[in-house]
Amino acid sequence: MSVDPQSGSPVDRFRRLRRTEALRRLVRETRLSPEELVYPLFVVGGQGVRNAIPSMPGQSQLSLDQLPAEAAELRALGIPAVLLFGIPSTKDEQGSGAYAADGIVQQAVRALKQADPDLLVITDVCLCEYTSHGHCGVVKDGEVDNDATLPLLTRTALSQAQAGADMVAPSAMMDGQVAAIRQALDEGGSPHTPIMAYAAKYASAFYGPFREAAESAPQFGDRRGYQMDPPNAREALREIEADIAEGADIVMVKPALAYLDVLARARERFDLPLAAYNVSGEYAMIKAAAANGWLDERRVTLEVLTAIKRAGADIIITYHAKEAARWLQSPS
Ligand SMILES: [Zn+2]
Repeated sequence: MSVDPQSGSPVDRFRRLRRTEALRRLVRETRLSPEELVYPLFVVGGQGVRNAIPSMPGQSQLSLDQLPAEAAELRALGIPAVLLFGIPSTKDEQGSGAYAADGIVQQAVRALKQADPDLLVITDVCLCEYTSHGHCGVVKDGEVDNDATLPLLTRTALSQAQAGADMVAPSAMMDGQVAAIRQALDEGGSPHTPIMAYAAKYASAFYGPFREAAESAPQFGDRRGYQMDPPNAREALREIEADIAEGADIVMVKPALAYLDVLARARERFDLPLAAYNVSGEYAMIKAAAANGWLDERRVTLEVLTAIKRAGADIIITYHAKEAARWLQSPS
């Protein structure tokens, strides 16, 4: 009963705990911290390069020499981890730049670990930035061949681990990729390297700005033949279950904001650490609205990140990581 029938006045006075900021803080159910954020980095060749990415204001492609300063900034902000994407100088049909010992990501791993051994360096394991056709695997007869792609993904993961990556994150959405990579790491001398699986990765239009950042737009067709269909949620749970069975240490839902229901269902069903990727389009929407003066950028950003955590994410991969960390250090 929420209203006293005699007096007609409310019994539940929810507003008692909302009166002051100190009270609200005390009873807050979800708290955001820089420690759970992962910052994505785009690495390119060259010297002294900081190529601003127009559709992702504040984000840039960085050359290797820029990485030590980046690592120092992240450390000062309390952000423990980066997720690396590489833009190679040349691309080919087989995406060989992804698994070259001196590939751009392998070099970036070494540079970052040298600059700050405590920084967690996570590497994206996929081929789309490295293939001339822009797909995430080997193309045969106009389609991405699942099983022909697996050996290239395992080579990529192993080469990244050998370069010093702390964790590998397969994102190609090939069936069996986690099992194949786990086996390759175990047999290749990296049994302690964890796998963060892009388990439920949707074929989302929210990736638009990323393709500009990573120069990885498919040259023909799209990725709907391997990434998940956005209307499906039960299938996401099956994908996650399969990746756990294959040996994933952390599972991910991507994108985040339009898939909070999937995150919440995954949180209820599975006990593994759960990551959410707050993707480029989600970032770009806030930046564009803020630039027009239509939204309070700080409040909206923190509200979105808090919602992702409230839905169940333990780890949030986000382009907002630095600004969020700054805002969290100096609460308004
Ligand atoms: Zn890909």
